[in-house]
Amino acid sequence: MANVFPSPHPLVAHKLTRLRNVNTDPKHFRELVREISGLMAYEATRDLLVQPKMVQTPLAPYQGVELQEKIGLVPVLRAGLGMVEGIWNLMPTAEVWHIGLYRDERTLKPVEYYNKLPVEPTVSVCLVLDPMLATGGSAVATVDVLKRWGVRKIKYVGILGAPEGIALMEKHHPEVPIHLAAVDERLNERGYILPGLGDAGDRQFGTG
Ligand code: URA
Repeated sequence: MANVFPSPHPLVAHKLTRLRNVNTDPKHFRELVREISGLMAYEATRDLLVQPKMVQTPLAPYQGVELQEKIGLVPVLRAGLGMVEGIWNLMPTAEVWHIGLYRDERTLKPVEYYNKLPVEPTVSVCLVLDPMLATGGSAVATVDVLKRWGVRKIKYVGILGAPEGIALMEKHHPEVPIHLAAVDERLNERGYILPGLGDAGDRQFGTG
């Protein structure tokens, strides 16, 4: 698992435990997704390029930096939507490009139903946002779309991953770093992560 980065941070572990709890209601679930996503994005962006920027403090000139890269957030609908806000708090100028994929319950394969990317890429880095890296089908398909769009630097930011999904990503996109709050044990026969947190979409949107 060379390119997988589970968070070692106690704040993430604490919030993740509350997120997993079946008694956490949708309001608190959404808050936790937002908070964990911000913490994960903080980790995932530690290698962003910066360029020199001169500013004047109240006392003296200061040679600082500003971000050099244009960042795109790509939430995979619908569970990825809840991750945007927490990351936008850190990077308010990030563009958000939506990719709609659903998982065919019979084949467990992703089906693309929404993609309005313009012809030319408008960002240099994309963070693919999906809280659950389960079979990995949606993640692989989303990265395929972004590579076809022409984005060269792509990172996956999620909350939980299963070994099966990580293996599929490593097979198809070994250079894409995977940032997760934790790696769980396995998938069940319906493609859910165990012990997991249930359906991340249903739990955010109150549709479970
Ligand atoms: N999607 C979810 O929301 N939960 C899982 O456990 C797997 C995929």
